[in-house]
Amino acid sequence: MTRILPHDHDHRFATRSVHAGQVPEPLSGAVMTPIYQTSTYVQAGLGRHKGYEYARTQNPTREALERNVASLEGGTHGFAFGSGLAALDAVLKLLRGGDHVVCGENVYGGTHRLMNQIYAGLGLQFTFVDMRDVANVERAVTAATRMVYCETPTNPMMNLADLAAVGDVTQARGLLFVVDNTFATPFFQRPLESAADVILHSTTKYLNGHSDMVGGLLVTSRDDLAERLGFIQNAAGGVPGPMDCWLALRGLKTLPLRMRQHDANGRRIAEWLAGRSEVTKIYYPGLPSHPQHELACRQMSGFGGMISLDLGDAARARRFVESTRIFALAESLGGVESLIGHPASMTHASVPPAMREEMGLTDSLVRLSCGVEDTEDLIGDLDRAFVASGR
Ligand SMILES: *Cc1c(COP(=O)(O)O)cnc(C)c1O
Repeated sequence: MTRILPHDHDHRFATRSVHAGQVPEPLSGAVMTPIYQTSTYVQAGLGRHKGYEYARTQNPTREALERNVASLEGGTHGFAFGSGLAALDAVLKLLRGGDHVVCGENVYGGTHRLMNQIYAGLGLQFTFVDMRDVANVERAVTAATRMVYCETPTNPMMNLADLAAVGDVTQARGLLFVVDNTFATPFFQRPLESAADVILHSTTKYLNGHSDMVGGLLVTSRDDLAERLGFIQNAAGGVPGPMDCWLALRGLKTLPLRMRQHDANGRRIAEWLAGRSEVTKIYYPGLPSHPQHELACRQMSGFGGMISLDLGDAARARRFVESTRIFALAESLGGVESLIGHPASMTHASVPPAMREEMGLTDSLVRLSCGVEDTEDLIGDLDRAFVASGR
């Protein structure tokens, strides 16, 4: 468990993304937090040490990362994990057999898999609901419900949940409210301010932003949950190595710069796509045509670089994702480089086909992660791919 430093909340967002959680290294004064590549720490005598005993439990590089993200989310405690799913695994360990979770139906594919194929077998119960309507959350709550788990915007349908409204439900009923903030990042959306108890990140995505590591992070402001999550982090041991923490910490320093460019590219490209005859549907909360655009403007300060589009024909979608040259065909998202994917066969292949169909995740759906390259080059690349894949 890492608590933020006394001054971590003192400055504005971009200043904190560079500095929060970091102190000059005591031996040499190194400005950048070193990679503390060690498994253990010398003790001056029995029980006499500097607060560091064993690196599963404490590592200074990891602590700097945990404090930094905790500060950016407006929380007080951070916990780093070896992946976003390891972070989710720790969150679900807050529960006991018989407990019930209300979860958004259109969450990350791996989130579904961990819940349905591992934790359901260990006695947790899950109900998946469309969180665009908070009434669906209320209806799904039973006497056994302990947690509401929410992703907004969702991957890849870009549906929104009204964080303040869901927060009212969880607070009124004493339920844990967990929000996966991977897509929006704290630069555009801070759910702890709307009654969320725990924020989850795949740091693999925008927080690191350079597609060169895998990691997860949890943030909370509740001391009781911090105590419990710190215990789970150490007891189950799903921690990241110091090199990956250092990479994420470096990435975070440019989070505001990158997010502004992802957002600018996302808006321009979404507008351009909306005018193309090949596109039968487009999903981007920044477009006024998005059914939840008004909510997006209310709870987010930007919309980012994630866009989904339906080409109405599975074969054309397949040709399209294989025709781009700058947008690389790959899983993942949130890096400086643009990526293109086919959710039904890639990121969301583990979601049952009937459920995919129901939520609009068709075989002709394409997902873009717009990077920070020049907008005109990205548009040119998509234009070429439309021509190459047939109109
Ligand atoms: C990638 C992702 C995850 C899982 O994170 P990993 O780091 O891949 O384990 C969870 N939620 C969302 C929204 C994601 O995009």
